[in-house]
Amino acid sequence: MFDYLIVGAGFAGSVLAERLARGSGKRVLICDKRPHIGGNAYDHHDDDGILIHRYGPHIFHTNSREVYEYLSQFTEWRPYMHRVLASVDGQLVPIPINLDTVNKLYNLNLTSFEVEKFFAERAEKLERIKTSEDAIVSKVGRELYEKFFRNYTRKQWDLDPSELDASVTSRIPIRTNRDDRYFGDTYQVMPLHGYTRMFERMLNHPNIKIMVGTDYREIEKMIPHAEVIYTGPVDAYFDYVYGKLPYRSLEFKFETKNVEVYQPAPVVNYPNEHAYTRVTEFKYLTGQDHKKTSLVYEYPRAEGDPYYPIPRPENAELYRKYEALAAATPNVHFVGRLATYKYYNMDQVVAQALTLYSKIAGAPRQKTTLAKVA
Ligand code: FAD
Ligand code: UDP
Repeated sequence: MFDYLIVGAGFAGSVLAERLARGSGKRVLICDKRPHIGGNAYDHHDDDGILIHRYGPHIFHTNSREVYEYLSQFTEWRPYMHRVLASVDGQLVPIPINLDTVNKLYNLNLTSFEVEKFFAERAEKLERIKTSEDAIVSKVGRELYEKFFRNYTRKQWDLDPSELDASVTSRIPIRTNRDDRYFGDTYQVMPLHGYTRMFERMLNHPNIKIMVGTDYREIEKMIPHAEVIYTGPVDAYFDYVYGKLPYRSLEFKFETKNVEVYQPAPVVNYPNEHAYTRVTEFKYLTGQDHKKTSLVYEYPRAEGDPYYPIPRPENAELYRKYEALAAATPNVHFVGRLATYKYYNMDQVVAQALTLYSKIAGAPRQKTTLAKVA
C-alpha cells in the first residue's frame, strides 16, 4: 500500500515525492505518462552528445533563497546570466528593451536620463493596465510595442495582446540602463549536470518508486494508495465536465550545425519574421564544449502537449469552476502549472509544491525544506 500516488514527475510531482518520502517517511509511487522524469524541464544528450532541453529552453532564475537552497541539495550550479537578442528592423538588438536597444534601433546616443524622457514622451497614459497591450504601450508607446511585442505575442498565443492579461507581457521588463540580462533575479544559475540529473537525485530514495511511460489511469485502480498528488491538466482530471481549458502548445524543431557557435546570443527572438518565435542555442545555457552546436526552433501550436495556460479573464473564470471541483475532491491535491492553471516558472512551482507539503505535513515551511540529504 502506498501512502501517495503522485501523477507527473516534473517539478511539482518530484518535489512532493522527495519531501513526503525524505521529510515524512511516506511511501510514494510517482508515475508519468512520458517515458522519463523531469516533466518539461527534462534534458538529455542528442545523437551528437550535445545536452539539449527536450521541451524548449529552461533557464533557472529565482529571488527565493528557500527555493534555491532546497534545490541545491540535489545539484551543483553553474552561474549563468541569460541574454536575448531580438531581430527587429534588420538588426539584432537587446530584449528586454534597454538604453542600447533604443540607441541602436534609432541610431541615437541617448543617456539613461534621456531615454527615460524618450519613453515618457511616447507612453500612453492609461487609467488602468488590464491587457498585455496596455502593459507595454503605457511604458514605451505604440511604436516599440509594435516592433517587439505585438506580432511576437500574436504568433505565440494566436491572440492579440489586447486579449491577454497584462501579466503576460509584464514578464519582460523595460529598462533605461544598459543591463541586457533577460532576468533580474538574485539567483541565476543552471544545474551543473543538467535538470534530469537533479531530478534523479531528488527521486533517489528507498521510499520512492518510479513508473514512467504510465498514465495514472492505467494503474490507479490496481495499485492501492491513500492519497493522490495530481500535477497534470486539471480539466483532464475531471474529464472536461465544464469543457476544455485552453492551453497553448509548441512544436520543437531541433537542428545540429557543424560549427562551434551558430548565433551571437543564447536566444534570438523573431517578433516579425518566420513562423517560429525564437531560436535557442543550447551550449550557451549549458556551458558544454563541443565541436558542433544544437539549436531549437519553437513553433506555436493550438494542438499538442499543453505547455502554457492562457491568462485571460474568460479562462480564469472557467478555471475557477475546476478549482472549486478540485477543492471538493477529497484525498487529491492539485499542484503545478497545469493542475492550477498558472503561468508559473520553475521556481514558482517549487515554492507552490513546498507550500503544499508544509500544509500536508502540518509544519512551517522553513523547517521542512532545509533538511540535509544523506
Ligand atoms: P510539468 O513539468 O508539465 O509536469 C507535469 C507532468 O505530468 C508531465 O511530465 C506530464 O507528462 C505528466 N502527466 C500529465 N498527465 C498525466 C497522466 N494522466 N498520467 C501520468 N502523467 C501525467 N520556467 C523557468 O523557470 N524558466 C524557463 O526558462 C522556462 N522555460 C520554459 C520554456 C517552455 C517552452 C515551457 C513550455 C515552459 C518553460 N518554463 C520555464 C516553465 C516550466 O516548464 C514549468 O514551470 C515547470 O516545468 C512546471 O512543472 P510542473 O511539474 O508543474 O509541470
Ligand atoms: N514577448 C514579446 N516579444 C518578445 C519576448 C516576449 O512579445 O521578444 C511577450 C510574448 O507575449 C511572450 C511573453 O512576452 O509570450 C513572455 O515572454 P517569455 O520570454 O517570458 O516567454 P516564455 O519563456 O514563458 O515562453
